Amino acid sequence: MKVIEHLKQATSTLFSFEILPPLKGKSIQSIFDGIDPLMEFNPRFVNVTYHREEYIYKERENGLLEKIAMRKRPGTVGICAAIMNKYQVDAVPHLICGGFSKEETENALIDLQFLGIDNVLALRGDSIKTESVFRPHQDGHEHAVDLIHQITDMNSGKYLVDDVQLAPTDFCIGAAGYPEKHFEAMNMATDLNYLKAKVDAGAQYIVTQMFFDNKKYFEFVDECRKIGINVPIIPGIKPIKTLQHGTFLPKFFNVSFPEELSKELLTCKDNQAVEKLGIEWGIQQSKELKEAGVPCIHYYTMSNSTMVRSIASEIF
Ligand code: FAD
Repeated sequence: MKVIEHLKQATSTLFSFEILPPLKGKSIQSIFDGIDPLMEFNPRFVNVTYHREEYIYKERENGLLEKIAMRKRPGTVGICAAIMNKYQVDAVPHLICGGFSKEETENALIDLQFLGIDNVLALRGDSIKTESVFRPHQDGHEHAVDLIHQITDMNSGKYLVDDVQLAPTDFCIGAAGYPEKHFEAMNMATDLNYLKAKVDAGAQYIVTQMFFDNKKYFEFVDECRKIGINVPIIPGIKPIKTLQHGTFLPKFFNVSFPEELSKELLTCKDNQAVEKLGIEWGIQQSKELKEAGVPCIHYYTMSNSTMVRSIASEIF
């Protein structure tokens, strides 16, 4: 079933979460071990992230270094199929522009359709570590909106090849939104306009970047509504877990901590204390969001479902 249908049918706030594929070579059991404890909260869909290649240098026998592209966390599509098969829960693969030609994207979408996966979260992806700015594949898409156009085209039977009408796909498309602005955007207004373009291109709902101050989310929703973005906007919640998160999360995700949270974080002596704070903060955020009637709360597990479980057990 499509995410948008789950949202439409919901009579109260839904629970969903995001997982990462395991590191290459690890068993899929690690994924199931992360999902099992969250199943009692009746997730309607589970998102699986996509991780593009990184470049590493490997020393050859002749002593020369060879630049090799490798993906540390492959398996997004396989994991989605496995989740749907094992749990009968809808899985949402993340599909990114980076590293893909349009034809590879088309083929990936055909694979998904054959597997019965009819949800995708369409993203641009970030630059690879060795590049300072995002560079699209030479035959690929520069922005998520272009990817969304391609999926919408396929949904109406328009493939890349030629003018012939082919079997239409039937994807429900989600897109990313940033309550505190995407880090590259000139300002909030341009970011919102580009977000509207994604919705106009066919995105049926938005999932937000993590935020720690609900006010930011509520303001973001208001601004979206003002410019005619009328699709559901699902808040994304990430419980802080380590002392390092105090600097890592703001830097990596362009998010800020409200003063109250930062003050409390500064009093934490170790990661155990941060986890306790992260759970309490997550519960507080989730309670307020639920009371405000958000359609769904989407949790970023980042390969650790224990904290999300502690929060969910108080909310769902
Ligand atoms: P876009 O919508 O293309 O926006 C990127 C930037 O370009 C923004 O600053 C925007 O304002 C600007 N922009 C947009 N359209 C245009 C245009 N037409 N012309 C000029 N400027 C434009 N990354 C991964 O690699 N894998 C994942 O699985 C993944 N999952 C994510 C899930 C969620 C819920 C979120 C919020 C992010 C996720 N990301 C993931 C990170 C995401 O790929 C990055 O934030 C990326 O930098 C931007 O992606 P986007 O889809 O928002 O890009």
